[in-house]
Amino acid sequence: MPVDSKPLADDDQKKQEELSLISEGLPLITAKITLQCPNCHRTRRFRNTFTGDKIDLILVSIKIIDWLSCDDCGFLYNTGIEFEI
Ligand SMILES: [Zn+2]
Repeated sequence: MPVDSKPLADDDQKKQEELSLISEGLPLITAKITLQCPNCHRTRRFRNTFTGDKIDLILVSIKIIDWLSCDDCGFLYNTGIEFEI
């Protein structure tokens, strides 16, 4: 399906999230996010490291990523997420 929606971009908010994803002294969690286009199979990978108290911020980021569509053909990516704890 064609998707015209773009993720809502709030640059200031995004910057803040990236800066505050890790609290000192807490164990790190890594989220491996894979986006794959169901149409042309283009694949993009992201990796995010954060601490458990920041899971809410990560979930917000994942919701935004979930709206991304393929750069080549515009299909909405399938999103796969793996957590390494
Ligand atoms: Zn595609």
